[in-house]
Amino acid sequence: MAKSSFEYVKTFELDDTVLPNSWIVVRLDGKCFHKFADDHNFKKPNDIRALRLMNYSAYSVLREFNELLLAYGQSDEYSFIFKKDCNLYKRRAAKLLTIVNSKFSSSYVFYWRKFFGDEELKYPPTFDGRLILYPSQENLIDYLKWRQADVHINNLYNTTFWALVLKGNLTPSQAEKRLCGTLSADKNEILFKEFGENYNNEPEIFKRGTLLTRKCITDEESKKSVKIIADVHDDMLKNNFWQEFSGHLIKPKNLLAHKGSMTDMI
Ligand code: ATP
Ligand code: ATP
Ligand code: MG
Ligand code: MG
Ligand code: MG
Ligand code: MG
Repeated sequence: MAKSSFEYVKTFELDDTVLPNSWIVVRLDGKCFHKFADDHNFKKPNDIRALRLMNYSAYSVLREFNELLLAYGQSDEYSFIFKKDCNLYKRRAAKLLTIVNSKFSSSYVFYWRKFFGDEELKYPPTFDGRLILYPSQENLIDYLKWRQADVHINNLYNTTFWALVLKGNLTPSQAEKRLCGTLSADKNEILFKEFGENYNNEPEIFKRGTLLTRKCITDEESKKSVKIIADVHDDMLKNNFWQEFSGHLIKPKNLLAHKGSMTDMI
């Protein structure tokens, strides 16, 4: 086709190709989800339906893009990690960020009913997104540990806060005051002494978030090796969790036996 006289405008587009040979992380986060959670009657402090919908939406992203190595989610956020040598969209930042965000966001809406049943989706949710590069495996693992440390801190706080409000009959501001300046040990003690709750017995998915990872297993019937996406709720901060594979791939070392809803043939 002959070039039109308008085509020069294309030259205004800037190159946003990211550095080769580094891990690309895309992190999405729900916009104003404290309100979205209230508007949709999320159970406090953890609504399992919402976590499963987040996980399933992330799973549909992983299923679509083979260049994705791992994903990790907690609360209203999800991080997606592309393989180091990924060449999808020639590593253009805007393309990678937007395809991940739009696939995730549309899946969240598309699969809403699968997890929320009759609870009506009142308006379309919004997710923000950012793209970060990590040049070393150590940085990448520290990134994942950082996000998991975040869920631990928030979840212990929220679990104690909501126990004080829902079971201890404190107002939210009284509960906030009570927790001001407390350490982890203090919160564990409040839960145990005042409410007979052992924080360690909280579901792993609440305490640790969810890591989605690709895994090869042997199919029982055909005895063939098949690839699956597994969800893991393990402690990524412990020293022996990560194992190096051929210098540029990371995989969790000991995957828990998987029984969850996520596993699927890919
Ligand atoms: P921002 O737009 O800045 O991200 P936000 O309201 O989304 O604002 P976040 O720090 O992202 O703030 O926190 C997410 C909030 O969403 C939580 O504080 C909680 O209120 C709510 N939320 C997310 N997931 C769940 C869940 N599974 N169960 C209960 N509440 C949830
Ligand atoms: P890419 O992923 O590279 O964008 P693509 O198949 O989406 O690939 P585009 O150049 O974006 O290619 O073209 C969009 C195509 O979608 C059109 O060529 C046409 O086939 C189809 N399409 C989009 N909107 C309509 C429409 N309203 N009616 C019919 N076909 C449409
Ligand atoms: Mg945010
Ligand atoms: Mg948010
Ligand atoms: Mg958040
Ligand atoms: Mg197109």
